Amino acid sequence: MDTLILGPLVVTMDVGDRILDVGGVAVRDGEIVAVGTREELEGLPAAETIDATGQLLMPGLVNAHTHLGDSLFRSLVEELPLEAWLERLWISEREFVSRESVELGARLSIAEMIRGGTTCALDMFWYPEAAADAAIGAGFRLVTGPIFFDFEGPDGVPVESRIAIGERWLERYADEPLITPCVQPHNQLTVSPEGLRAARDLADRAGALFHTHCSETATEARQTIERFGRTPAAHLDELGILDGPTALAHCVHLTDDDFARIRRKGAAILHNPLSNLKLGSGIAPVARMLDEGIPVLIGTDGPVSSNDLDMWTAMRFAGLLQRGVHQDPVLTPAQEIVRMSTTVGAEGLGLGDRVGRLAEGFRADLMLIDLARPHLTPMFDVYAHLVYAVGRDDVRSVMIDGRWVMRDRTLETIDEAAVLADMTDLASAIGHHAAALAPDSMGLR
Ligand SMILES: [Zn+2]
Repeated sequence: MDTLILGPLVVTMDVGDRILDVGGVAVRDGEIVAVGTREELEGLPAAETIDATGQLLMPGLVNAHTHLGDSLFRSLVEELPLEAWLERLWISEREFVSRESVELGARLSIAEMIRGGTTCALDMFWYPEAAADAAIGAGFRLVTGPIFFDFEGPDGVPVESRIAIGERWLERYADEPLITPCVQPHNQLTVSPEGLRAARDLADRAGALFHTHCSETATEARQTIERFGRTPAAHLDELGILDGPTALAHCVHLTDDDFARIRRKGAAILHNPLSNLKLGSGIAPVARMLDEGIPVLIGTDGPVSSNDLDMWTAMRFAGLLQRGVHQDPVLTPAQEIVRMSTTVGAEGLGLGDRVGRLAEGFRADLMLIDLARPHLTPMFDVYAHLVYAVGRDDVRSVMIDGRWVMRDRTLETIDEAAVLADMTDLASAIGHHAAALAPDSMGLR
């Protein structure tokens, strides 16, 4: 064995939802080779044995929808509705987004996520190679890939070249163990039907997940109906976009017909409660999605729309919202919320055979949580604790693909001080540029 972790409370999230009061796991070559009680594993030869008594061991969290590079602009654009907010954000993105700045933003975001026990994320942003390289450097598992808009973005790629460049991108990262390629047009208003179709074909040729935004706001849904005579989900379905592995971010505003189409095609929905609330987009009908058997994953969305990448807060809101809205305290059970952020999260991103569980044959993506804390004592229901009491600062150590990326709160693969210093320098330029914009013409207050 390379690593033997002994003594923690183990929440496997495996078939049967096995919980071991005093258990452990053994890791070899990045893979979990044994999960069992302390007695069963004790004595196995290992290069390193960790005594994790008093801690909780569980799979790392999957952040199913985010825009890592947006950490460059955290809290720059506030108090605006989504459409005006995007317009305003894009002004700063055009000025400051580059291959280098996106890699810096991604590194910062990955540091934040590792600190909170997130071991895998789905990222949509300019220069996806920058985030992919940042992830590889940090030992972080990332699902990302070419993005599509019908206008030339800050990456300077002409619209007509995006498919060819995307094709090369997918080839380049096809064999990277930590990178899972996907194809991601922004949404059905910023990408034409032909563009969406070409992106779907590209995803199918590469065997990649198709990821897009869908029905995030009522305005977007209305504009889609005005332009195409059908809802966003119906539009995607009629174009054949939902045929094949698909992940739809948001789905806040769905009709009965939308539900039927999404269910029939088996698309996964990426629920982002924090950004939906903060941008006033509404509350996604998650209880009904779950009721209808639609896979629902949880994401934070980008650091501009929800300001941080804290999956624990996103999980808590995902649970609380449905209960409050429906006045029903048994909706969205805590165990289901944890599943949405681990096993279902992995499955929905096409990684269900590799991560999301502590099970033999799975990659070792896991975290240790300190339980000796006032707010975690006592503990009679572990899943309720994970959704309603645990916070990101309780995460003590994180392993991805068998490699420690955080140990005892120290990041092992990212020079955090250097990233913070570089970001502070860049932020001062971004702030000066924003301050010089005419407030009335830019939608700023
Ligand atoms: Zn988004």
